[in-house]
Amino acid sequence: MQRYSLAQKRQGRTVAVVPTMGFLHEGHMSLIDTARENADVVVVTIFVNPTQFGPNEDFDKYPRDLERDRRMCEERGALAIFAPEAREMYPADSSTWVQEEKLSRGMCAKTRPTHFRGVTTVVAKLFNAVLPDVAVFGQKDAQQALILCRMVRDLNFPIRMIIAPIVREADGLAMSSRNKYLSAEERVNALSVSRSLNAARARLEVFPGADLDGLKQEMAAEIQFSGGRVDYIEILDAATLEEPTGDSGRLLIAVAAYYGATRLIDNVLMEKKRK
Ligand code: AMP
Repeated sequence: MQRYSLAQKRQGRTVAVVPTMGFLHEGHMSLIDTARENADVVVVTIFVNPTQFGPNEDFDKYPRDLERDRRMCEERGALAIFAPEAREMYPADSSTWVQEEKLSRGMCAKTRPTHFRGVTTVVAKLFNAVLPDVAVFGQKDAQQALILCRMVRDLNFPIRMIIAPIVREADGLAMSSRNKYLSAEERVNALSVSRSLNAARARLEVFPGADLDGLKQEMAAEIQFSGGRVDYIEILDAATLEEPTGDSGRLLIAVAAYYGATRLIDNVLMEKKRK
């Protein structure tokens, strides 16, 4: 992988990487489009990274279809796929981690305490393999995007980070490889996530001083009424992931909820208006 990238760069081309876990959908394709607009050569990495899954999570049954992914990448103009095996990525006695320690505490980390350590470690390793000038990630994983931007800054990776907007199904469901797990009924019920996010944003746009705890309770009620089980609902400063203050520029409204055994995440960003 390094030889390929170095050869491209020697010929004066810039390289963008789009890291994924495969089972690609239109959300991933939009990242490839953005990557193409920002570099000459797009490399898609496809790696279901064992170190970011907890012991009772879906690593073994995470959907995989490399041949379909390969076709989709080719059609969209990605020039290379890097799809290593776990044993190629992690030597058996691998003992080094990359860990961000501030943004990786709340939200998803509460129920997935070792998740972001796995993400930062594997993305650092993918960066070292692909040697990209540009990296494109999705706002769908809002906390992950912030943590990775922090890692790039703190560790001086010479990489320009681009965070691309969330791509949704026509009815509002955020696209995700995990949507495949949903039964027809759960698929309908899961719309309560984007509905509750939009309702909260609309309310805050009209009433910037609305009580955030009350708003979160209303969101929880909507999700529970539709058969979802809330993991978390947060309304936070979008830059720090802390409680919003008078100075907060943008707000992140974020949800994680289970429908059956499937955990979905979604979020909206909004400018904070003066009260
Ligand atoms: P994943 O394969 O789920 O690990 O996602 C790989 C990349 O695609 C991450 O940067 C995600 O944030 C991004 N991504 C996943 N779903 C979407 C979506 N619906 N819209 C935009 N980006 C997405």
